[in-house]
Amino acid sequence: MTIQQEIEKLRNQLHQYNHEYYVLDTPSISDYDFDMLLKQLQELEAKHPEFDDENSPTKRVGGAITKKFNTVVHDQRMYSLDNSYNKEDLLAWEKRIQKVVEEKIEYTCELKYDGASISLTYENGKLLKAVTRGDGFQGDDITENIKTIKSVPLTLQGSDIPEKFDIRGEIVLPFKGFQKMNEERLAIGEVPYANPRNTASGSLKLQDSSEVAKRPLECLLYSLVGSQLPIKTQFESLEKARSWGFKVPQIAYKASSIDEVLTFVEVWDKKRHDLPYETDGVVIKVNDLQQQELLGHTAKAPRWAMAYKFKAEQVATTLESVSYQVGRTGAITPVANLFPVEIAGTTVKRASLHNADQIAKLDVREFDEVYVEKGGEIIPKIVGVNLEKRNPESLPLQYATHCPECHTELVRTEGDAKHYCPNEETCPPQVIGRIEHYISRKAMDIEGLGGETVAQLVKEGLIHDFTDLYTLTIDQLLPLDRMAQKSAENLVNGVAASVKIPFEKVLFALGIRFVGETVAKKLAFHFKNIDALKIADKQTLENVDEIGTKIAESVVQYFSERNNMERIERLKSFGVQMTIDESQLPKISSAILEGKTIVVSGVFEKVSRNELKKLIEENGGKVGSSISSKTAFIVAGDKMGPSKLEKAQKLGIDLWDENQFLEEINRL
Ligand code: AMP
Ligand code: ZN
Repeated sequence: MTIQQEIEKLRNQLHQYNHEYYVLDTPSISDYDFDMLLKQLQELEAKHPEFDDENSPTKRVGGAITKKFNTVVHDQRMYSLDNSYNKEDLLAWEKRIQKVVEEKIEYTCELKYDGASISLTYENGKLLKAVTRGDGFQGDDITENIKTIKSVPLTLQGSDIPEKFDIRGEIVLPFKGFQKMNEERLAIGEVPYANPRNTASGSLKLQDSSEVAKRPLECLLYSLVGSQLPIKTQFESLEKARSWGFKVPQIAYKASSIDEVLTFVEVWDKKRHDLPYETDGVVIKVNDLQQQELLGHTAKAPRWAMAYKFKAEQVATTLESVSYQVGRTGAITPVANLFPVEIAGTTVKRASLHNADQIAKLDVREFDEVYVEKGGEIIPKIVGVNLEKRNPESLPLQYATHCPECHTELVRTEGDAKHYCPNEETCPPQVIGRIEHYISRKAMDIEGLGGETVAQLVKEGLIHDFTDLYTLTIDQLLPLDRMAQKSAENLVNGVAASVKIPFEKVLFALGIRFVGETVAKKLAFHFKNIDALKIADKQTLENVDEIGTKIAESVVQYFSERNNMERIERLKSFGVQMTIDESQLPKISSAILEGKTIVVSGVFEKVSRNELKKLIEENGGKVGSSISSKTAFIVAGDKMGPSKLEKAQKLGIDLWDENQFLEEINRL
């Protein structure tokens, strides 16, 4: 087998495994084996750039940065849909279309997925571009971001694939992934995202595609568009698309009458609550494509399709009281305690009230009858008050003035939607929350210690702060409930082992507001040690790539507090890492290439590709993964891929050979 064949074989295998895992939900190999094959392919591709392929499974991890998304005109317009809300609307629609189509009409019923619409273009079986709906006539080219979504096939399989076609669908964020993202946000003291739909569409416009790759997005497809399609009906088009490798939900039904459509609607209005993603209705389409053509479009929507909108389920119940929760960062969230009611198959006892403004806006009062709705959000919300049933003597709700946990007076800074408990040092949920964050897997990853034990240790007065963990002894632990010799040893050993955790994780573990995992890494690598970071002023911080005002202010604030400085000194004294591991850092020898993004392509004689990349970084440059108008120049070796060459020429980007490059950085 030639190298090229080997590469092709690996790519096909990996495409197939991705398809099994992300589209069919039936993986046939272990994650480990998958990673091994992927690594093998990455290595081969690195050695043989002449066989580069934009659609290789290795491109899934992202990395391309898009500063401005290009506008692309849709070959065929992306229409919206007319809405209907009841049986009468649907019957009236049928009457209208029966005037144009006199024969019998069949319908395809699909669910209406609630996300961001997308149009994918395939040419010769490969993904060519992905464009947002925009205004329907033109949208944004977000191909790089879409490629990172694993359920989007980069190359198609099967027969009858048209040479070129568009397929349309919806990018959704399933509930589970949404919840996980929000847990991570809460962990760094950020306000959680409101609902999966907005988060999905926001994700598509991120500039860094490797960030998109981290988000658990999915792409559900529902319609083929093109001039020479091997299909006669909408229902067939779903089956065809499925056979080519697209994720087309199995929930689609061919109905022979409007009555059957209504049955489908009724059934799915209930069953949809068991689906892993949000849906907000049913889309009913005339099944026969010739009939569709006869019907045509209005100025805004096809006449052959109709959306039937589900009513967001709403129930009335009594607001019994409002309580206040305190988060790790001290943020207060008001929570409505409700007389329990059933919504969408679950019993609801609590609803979020978000903040003081929201309470004022709704003017909810204790013992009001309130309307509760479960929409895209996971936590139900109160959408209104039944004023007719209000007790005329009720008074507006007084927002809490003091922390329910430690009774400190709450503060609210201008511009902040939330109230905070300023008692960082002894307010129990803040103290416990900070320690829990410190020991969590992505931070210090301390084994043998869980949330319950932390609460117990704080309650018993054994620790007040995460720095106290390092002084715990087995003798202190043994008297605790459910603490055997072995678990005590594990705990102490786990804590001791954490002094090896690298500085960037320590920085994250400190729990500085707005300093999540990625930001902590950026800061750690930039400042290299805590002493440099703690004296950095706001401006210096903002000069760091991707650090904005909000983060900069929070970091300055953190280091201005004596308690925090003491904590850091204590951690240092226990041997916790406060300096980056130098061997991980590129050694900067000059700034000759500062501000330049350079792409390396081909194979070289004097230096390896990896050495070249290292040299670029050591001289202040950035290594780009793909050629764009922002590429300063390309260091080109032998066997540079023809598509790259063409792109470079088109954009007028210089090609340097290795000698030129080495000369530039004074290495010759
Ligand atoms: P609207 O935005 O309310 O006009 O609804 C039209 C949008 O519904 C389309 O642009 C699609 O993004 C979305 N949609 C979701 N599921 C489907 C489906 N099964 N068929 C067609 N459109 C759908
Ligand atoms: Zn408090």
